Amino acid sequence: MGLLRKIRTTGRVAEPAPPRPQGDVPAKARELGGSVQVRCVDAGSCNGCEIEIAAAFNPVYDAERYGARLVASPRHADVALVTGPVTRNMAEPLRRTVAAMGEPRLVVAVGDCAINCGEFAGGYGVEGAVADVVPVDVQVPGCPPEPGEIVAALRRVTGR
Ligand code: SF4
Repeated sequence: MGLLRKIRTTGRVAEPAPPRPQGDVPAKARELGGSVQVRCVDAGSCNGCEIEIAAAFNPVYDAERYGARLVASPRHADVALVTGPVTRNMAEPLRRTVAAMGEPRLVVAVGDCAINCGEFAGGYGVEGAVADVVPVDVQVPGCPPEPGEIVAALRRVTGR
């Protein structure tokens, strides 16, 4: 089957949109008008959370349909999606990344490691949880959180 024909016949593969997630929209998020640019920062993760973040933006979960879009630079970003416990080597780069973002900006801690260091708590190379290094606005628990939960957290930020 030719590619164009396949595109024409496949149709949508995205999951039906679940109901809008419960929970307050963070106050800063209301200023962003329902559309956010997202920069991912791996501060020391095992890569499990990154795999789920990649899935959250694939055609099935399709976070972009709720107004969240990945960007390559913190200077273009409104939201930092941060994974992993923060290692000693990543503490200062994380601070600088968040400082490079415009205002208003939000930090989303993705995964148990980002929230409380998870499996890596007490490790010699661990500086602390994300909130020990930069202010955190939204938490997504889980090891790793499922893509739908990451999408739900982003929907809380976009309000869509
Ligand atoms: S929360 Fe789990 S999957 Fe995510 S970085 Fe930690 S150990 Fe890996």
